[in-house]
Amino acid sequence: MLFEDMSAQLITTIALHYATRELTSLLSKKDSDSEKVTRLREEVKRLRASRRCAPPRVQQRGNKVILTIPFLSASGELLDRVLQQGARLAYAGVDRGLRCPVVVSVLDEDSAYHDRQVRYEHLFTRRTMLRQRTRELSSQIDRRKNNWERKRPRLTCPAHILKRERELTSVWRKVRRLDREIAHQVAAETVWFCEKHGVKTVYLEDLRFFNGKGGMRSHSWNLSTNLWGLIQEGIIYRRKALGHSRGGVWTVNPAWTSQTCSECGERGVRVEGSESVEERKGGEYFYCPQCQTQLHADINAARNIIKVRKKPSAGPGRTGQQCPEMSNFQ
Ligand SMILES: [Zn+2]
Repeated sequence: MLFEDMSAQLITTIALHYATRELTSLLSKKDSDSEKVTRLREEVKRLRASRRCAPPRVQQRGNKVILTIPFLSASGELLDRVLQQGARLAYAGVDRGLRCPVVVSVLDEDSAYHDRQVRYEHLFTRRTMLRQRTRELSSQIDRRKNNWERKRPRLTCPAHILKRERELTSVWRKVRRLDREIAHQVAAETVWFCEKHGVKTVYLEDLRFFNGKGGMRSHSWNLSTNLWGLIQEGIIYRRKALGHSRGGVWTVNPAWTSQTCSECGERGVRVEGSESVEERKGGEYFYCPQCQTQLHADINAARNIIKVRKKPSAGPGRTGQQCPEMSNFQ
């Protein structure tokens, strides 16, 4: 539908160009037909008013060809047409994954789940490399500075140390820029997936409970608090733009979401593969011995995030208060 609208816009633009050119040529003539001029003026005015964005454009500069595709601003009319088809009855749980940065699970009105693993591996690989570089540089700077100050306490640092400090600043700037890029991409894909399934409310892991996921640190994407915060902001911002009040986003305490079975609520174990039932710490899959549910561990956790919403009282200890029987899981 967005593309249909785009083509209508293109046709309007062509008509506008045509009418404007005709009007100019008419006006340049001495004995122009005043009735025709008025008619064309009206036509140009109408076309201009109906045009909401510029048309796609192809430009050639030297040996480069540039295609410019403008986006329509989200007008209320367009949003109604594209997004408000049917009521929103689904819920989504968004969790940090272990095998990929973010996992989205949608529970629709028919109690069916739709899962999506959001991956931007190339961006995360680059991020890991940059973070590694900051650690190297910091330790080099510390070591050299210590040496220098011990030997010559009253002198300022030499150029080779200052050079490394400048490099460190620039690497940190790159990390921050990359974080923003990752947050944009991940948030956009998450929101798009939620819109596709008519999600009313999105549940996210609360930042206050944020910590490394136990036992899996080496495998974990280990999204930093800062990055998860940026992703949350991105999701809220986009959902607000789509007309959800306050973004339709809630945060929940993620305690136990990775150990509990999303089907029956009993405690399950980690297993290596999608077929195996033997417990293996740090395994990729989740297996519930009570109801034989077998799921990817990340997806199981995301589904549990949706379940937490049903339990009242927000804030710390929310899950623990609601499920006292879970306390022996610790
Ligand atoms: Zn179960």
